[in-house]
Amino acid sequence: MLYKYCEERGVAHKRLGKLIVATGVAETAKLDMLQRNAKESGVDDLQLMEGSQAMEVEPELRCLKALLSPSTGIVDSHSLMLSLLADAENLGTTISYNTAVISAHVGSEGIELHVCDSKELQNYPVGSHVNPQLVLLPKLLINSAGLSAIPLARQFRGLDCAFVPTPHYARGCYFTLSQTKSPFRRLIYPLPEDGGIGVHVTLDLNGLVRFGPDVEWISDDGNDPVSCFLNRFDYSVNPARCNVFYPVVRKYFPNLKDGSLEPGYSGIRPKLSGPGQHPSDFVIQGEDVHGIPGLVNLFGIESPGLTSSLAIAEHIVSRYL
Ligand SMILES: Cc1cc2nc3c(=O)[nH]c(=O)nc-3n(C[C@H](O)[C@H](O)[C@H](O)COP(=O)(O)OP(=O)(O)OC[C@H]3O[C@@H](n4cnc5c(N)ncnc54)[C@H](O)[C@@H]3O)c2cc1C
Repeated sequence: MLYKYCEERGVAHKRLGKLIVATGVAETAKLDMLQRNAKESGVDDLQLMEGSQAMEVEPELRCLKALLSPSTGIVDSHSLMLSLLADAENLGTTISYNTAVISAHVGSEGIELHVCDSKELQNYPVGSHVNPQLVLLPKLLINSAGLSAIPLARQFRGLDCAFVPTPHYARGCYFTLSQTKSPFRRLIYPLPEDGGIGVHVTLDLNGLVRFGPDVEWISDDGNDPVSCFLNRFDYSVNPARCNVFYPVVRKYFPNLKDGSLEPGYSGIRPKLSGPGQHPSDFVIQGEDVHGIPGLVNLFGIESPGLTSSLAIAEHIVSRYL
């Protein structure tokens, strides 16, 4: 869906392909599991390769076996968002910027949404009660507040808290490669790790190489909806974390030179499973789940939420509109 959309709207993208690599003997069986899981999920273009075949197409790579995903690619995410925004506005959507949803009353008799100017929130200490400046009466409310989706749902009076999962947050840092020429033409991924998909090679449309994201579990201080909406998470990248990156990356890229990694940026994942727990899928809850007409909650929309955005939207439209 995303490739088709990008082609129709002229959004820059590249179908680079991805190699998921096993660097130890114990990992090779996991590639088979990934391929089986992909097939069961409707992805049937993955090809298992011997390490020698993979290293022939990517000479800087070291691995024992690899799984090639030829349909993986990259997209200019900002152009994609601008294009979706233009589409929405052309269809008559009004976007209310700098506006925070602070709470709601939800029930079978309708939804009452409490809203205030987000600048107002700056003055409220953590955990305090915020008075709404405006009350809206929407026919449909899609809570797609990302990191705030769970703390916000906890402020929906009338929604049974049994339907609101426990949030977990994991920071992911990226380090950029200082050398300008990319050692790889494809995205290179190790096997998934606890809490993430592994410190992998990401290429952007300008050919810049990044390694990441790692997984750093952080406390859920952001549980307070005001803190969450103001995004009071710490996004700084600790340069010392590169010491974790070098050995991990060298497992598949042994020629990585000392001193060649520079702090890039970080992001926070809204996760539904905590350290050591089985990974969770996206949760999309509508009336069929929680019994409240017109309310759709989206929880745990972490990677690949951007790739899946059009499919998620289609799913909501077909089920709840
Ligand atoms: C490190 C990292 C790497 C990633 N890599 C990939 C990748 O390679 N591919 C991929 O597909 N995905 C990737 N993702 C995931 C992707 O970024 C997310 O899945 C996607 O952004 C989720 O979109 P969303 O609209 O649900 O939430 P968000 O993008 O978080 O948007 C939520 C919006 O709601 C607003 N909001 C929050 N609270 C309130 C409130 N109370 N009132 C009003 N507005 C509110 C926020 O300001 C924000 O604008 C990555 C994420 C991270 C952190």
